[in-house]
Amino acid sequence: MVQLVDVSKEYGEVAALRGVSMDIEYGELVGIVGPSGSGKSTMLNMIGTLDRPSSGTVSIAGHDVLTLTDKQLSALRANVIGFVFQQFHLAAGVPALDNVADGLLYAGPSLRERRRRAYEALERVGLGHRLGHRPHELSGGERQRVAIARAVVGGPRLLLADEPTGNLDSRSGAGVMDLLRELHAGGTTVVVITHDRDIAASLPRQVEMLDGLVVDPVDPVDPVDIVDGARV
Ligand code: ADP
Repeated sequence: MVQLVDVSKEYGEVAALRGVSMDIEYGELVGIVGPSGSGKSTMLNMIGTLDRPSSGTVSIAGHDVLTLTDKQLSALRANVIGFVFQQFHLAAGVPALDNVADGLLYAGPSLRERRRRAYEALERVGLGHRLGHRPHELSGGERQRVAIARAVVGGPRLLLADEPTGNLDSRSGAGVMDLLRELHAGGTTVVVITHDRDIAASLPRQVEMLDGLVVDPVDPVDPVDIVDGARV
């Protein structure tokens, strides 16, 4: 689904990524974890094709990002990738149903069809009873569910979530993580960017970042847990 080969990204003097190589397989659920400034957002921008690398190769679903035109990149983003952000990024004053339906504008079905699919997506995230609510009439957790519905309404194979629980209390955050796990169980490749080690630890795979590099996770295995060379 995602292949980064020796990817570097510089912002002027700052090396935000310094030769990162990493693969994410179809159907994985991965946490990208690391302290502030370690390069997580830059990594998200690379994987989400929101920005191009300074050097190295980024391939998404088999497409080499550097060879695509801006128009082809927009199509890739619209058809293959869904985005969820910490700040929700919902349109103010717009009912939940239309916030989600707008996620299909690029694909271009009729308004009626967009709303039908938006309704299905809101049902899927447990908000079938909040169709007419505007963002300010929803709780933080509900807003993030609407944002997730918008991200998945077009059926993306890859869902990128940037600190999706960062603005939520722990209970709503846990609900959002459960929802991401459900989407993963349904076949979507899910990448969660987080500085929260507990959230990362709850995911089947973690990619640990430090100073613009992917580092091997510190794995403090107690020798008594090893029996005949296998961890128990
Ligand atoms: P994280 O998401 O882990 O906090 P970032 O990817 O945002 O890390 O940032 C990595 C480094 O790159 C930081 O030192 C940051 O200040 C720098 N950086 C990120 N974006 C820009 C930018 N647009 N211009 C200049 N420096 C940037």
